[in-house]
Amino acid sequence: MSASQINPILVGISACLVGQPVRYNGGHSQSKLCLQTLAEYFQFKPFCPEVAAGFGIPRPTMRLVGDPESPQLQFSEGSGDLSAKLIAGFQGQLPQMADLDGYILMKNSPSCGLERIKVYRENGYPSEQKSAGLFTKAVQQHWPLLPLEEEGRLNDPYLRENFILRVFTHNDYRHQVRNRPSYHNLLQFHSRYKYLVMAHSYSAYRDIGRMLAKGHDEPLQQVIDEYAQKLFAAIAKPARRKGHANTLLHILGYLKQSVPGPLRQDIVEVVDNYRRGQVPLVAPITLLRHHIEQYGSDYIRSQRYLHPYPDNLALRNQV
Ligand code: SF4
Repeated sequence: MSASQINPILVGISACLVGQPVRYNGGHSQSKLCLQTLAEYFQFKPFCPEVAAGFGIPRPTMRLVGDPESPQLQFSEGSGDLSAKLIAGFQGQLPQMADLDGYILMKNSPSCGLERIKVYRENGYPSEQKSAGLFTKAVQQHWPLLPLEEEGRLNDPYLRENFILRVFTHNDYRHQVRNRPSYHNLLQFHSRYKYLVMAHSYSAYRDIGRMLAKGHDEPLQQVIDEYAQKLFAAIAKPARRKGHANTLLHILGYLKQSVPGPLRQDIVEVVDNYRRGQVPLVAPITLLRHHIEQYGSDYIRSQRYLHPYPDNLALRNQV
């Protein structure tokens, strides 16, 4: 998969992360990872909900206050509830996110934070329970399948790999199923994602298989919605070594008629080395891909598990 084949993948981003001077103090939080590495594959759509709401630059700092389930936005120095003003600023933006395949958010912001945002009680002390920022909550409600991540967490190679995997999966799902809904397209799509789902969750793999087997009895849109919910729930977290190793052996089993025994044994050894943490995922995947090129069927070659995103990102070298 080359960058030109998959472009453009549109990803929303907190505007301060691309260097726009929109923070409360007129500064920014420019992200090297986003601008130097990910920008080669993603076209960013920056947005600052606080500026869109007219709070101005500079502006007083803000925080969440009250019930953690439904907090209010206030100035940190004290004010009335500013939530309605913030919401009015981003409300029109939400329906325009239909072409996005992911969103990268700034941490610790009462508007943009993804999680762990403090919510203060009336007595000035923070509650035990944390919240997401108010803009992020609204995005999650409006687009529940959209992959979201905080920029800081993308420095973790496992979380980075998982977010990028979800973005490319969302892009494929959107083009192949959501925008062209039919049972045929759904089944075609899933036939390419079986091993990817298996690596993340064997129970989800079986559950989705059962669901699709009786899907023709249900209304199409209901089946698609249920499928998408199960797919993105299954891949919401990084797959474990055990899940990858089992999946690699399944794929190897699929090749057993065509790959000679001694070669199969070599591959099993590399998979075991990966399972023990002695080599990264790229080692067994590269070996398998090599043999699949020679001996594999169209079905196995089409598996997104083998090519979930561009190789140049080198994501499987670090997990
Ligand atoms: S509201 Fe969001 S985009 Fe705007 S400065 Fe704060 S974190 Fe950045």
